[in-house]
Amino acid sequence: MAAPAAADTGGPHAGEDDYDVVILGAGPAGAAAAITLRRHTRLRVALVERRLFDPFRPGETVSAALFPLVDYLGIARARFEERHLQSYAHAAAWGGDALVVRDFLFNGQGSGLHLDRLAFDSMLLDEAGQLGARIVQPAELLAITAGERWSVALRQGERKRTLSAAYVIDCSGRSSVMVRQQQCAVLQTDRMVGVYAYYDAVDGRARLQRTLVETTEHGWFYLAPLPGGRTAVAFMTDAETLRTLDLLDPEAWRRHALASTHIGALVRELAAPQAFRQYPVHSRVARLPANAAWTAAGDAAASFDPVSSLGIGHALSSGIHAARVAHAYLEQGGGLGEGYRQSLLDHFQSYVTTRRSLYANEQRWPGAGFWQRRAGTGAVCAQGQDGSRTRPNPGLGPAAGSSEGVVRTRSTSIK
Ligand SMILES: Cc1cc2nc3c(=O)[nH]c(=O)nc-3n(C[C@H](O)[C@H](O)[C@H](O)COP(=O)(O)OP(=O)(O)OC[C@H]3O[C@@H](n4cnc5c(N)ncnc54)[C@H](O)[C@@H]3O)c2cc1C
Repeated sequence: MAAPAAADTGGPHAGEDDYDVVILGAGPAGAAAAITLRRHTRLRVALVERRLFDPFRPGETVSAALFPLVDYLGIARARFEERHLQSYAHAAAWGGDALVVRDFLFNGQGSGLHLDRLAFDSMLLDEAGQLGARIVQPAELLAITAGERWSVALRQGERKRTLSAAYVIDCSGRSSVMVRQQQCAVLQTDRMVGVYAYYDAVDGRARLQRTLVETTEHGWFYLAPLPGGRTAVAFMTDAETLRTLDLLDPEAWRRHALASTHIGALVRELAAPQAFRQYPVHSRVARLPANAAWTAAGDAAASFDPVSSLGIGHALSSGIHAARVAHAYLEQGGGLGEGYRQSLLDHFQSYVTTRRSLYANEQRWPGAGFWQRRAGTGAVCAQGQDGSRTRPNPGLGPAAGSSEGVVRTRSTSIK
């Protein structure tokens, strides 16, 4: 994908380098923060994105609960819905072989959507650009230095440039560059990863507009249709199991898929995947500062197991919230940071409780490490992205002795 027409790619006509707020990362969280700031304040905003978006994206499914957030961002509902595929139901073989189908018709909210992430991210970015946010893309982040103002050093092609900002919002997803650089305490509960195979057009059964989930001894499979006639099939497991079962080898991954009942029947009919990707999908939350010249939103602040389908909604709502925190800090010297950080911790705590009861519904493999760890009977297994060790939990999450643990990131490097 090319950079958006309005993007500042660092060429000879590169724009101003002095901003009130620099946002790192132009996913849904970063774009929502930029849109909110530009729609409701006069602050000068730059949105820095390190790369052009990958057309092969997980194929997120979102519920109708996302629509009020999209409304808040001022994006017309019809414009939003037209590029995505309606999602009518969720089918799961979880806790038994039989497929249980939950039709969204009966949830009182209506159907959800299988997102075209490229279209979704591009739409939000266009909106931010039209409202006057400077889109700096693609740009490699070299360093962030604190002083009276932040200096954000970038490389764009051959050229180096430095943006100056009074406030920084970290929306860099799971890279969480500021969270790491500022050595913010992070609670990470697991080491889950997802291995995705992206397929071209498939038969009618796989194209049913619903998600399909099926558990195995080592994790769970997920299948979702993608807009444009493609299908994503993923296996979620722990990083250790990925290595033990060699699941990054497409042939080993396929054999594991074929051994499952419902997913296996569909995968058997598919030709070779167009693309094969691995993603980190562990759960974590950062203890953000109560009152500082930076904050974080989206996955950089808290990330969730994909089974929860919380990520995109959280990215938009926390992006909006972080924009308000930044505005209050710049206009009044603070006031909203403590409430924001506490609401993130509370949200994460309630998510952990719900996730534990969901995983407890699967009792067929009591000896399997993957299920034991999620039932709270396994060893503490969290580890920081920088390799730092797990410590007993001093009150951020559930009690020590559960499968949760706290990690302090110590890295001072940007990457
Ligand atoms: C496999 C998988 C399945 C998922 N399924 C679902 C689902 O069904 N439903 C759901 O709601 N959510 C789902 N999620 C979660 C969802 O994708 C994320 O929660 C969401 O994308 C978070 O948005 P974000 O803007 O915080 O981060 P991201 O979308 O990760 O965006 C961060 C951006 O920051 C950029 N960036 C990173 N580092 C830098 C840097 N140093 N400088 C500049 N830019 C940088 C990245 O390139 C990226 O564009 C899933 C996630 C995965 C991985």
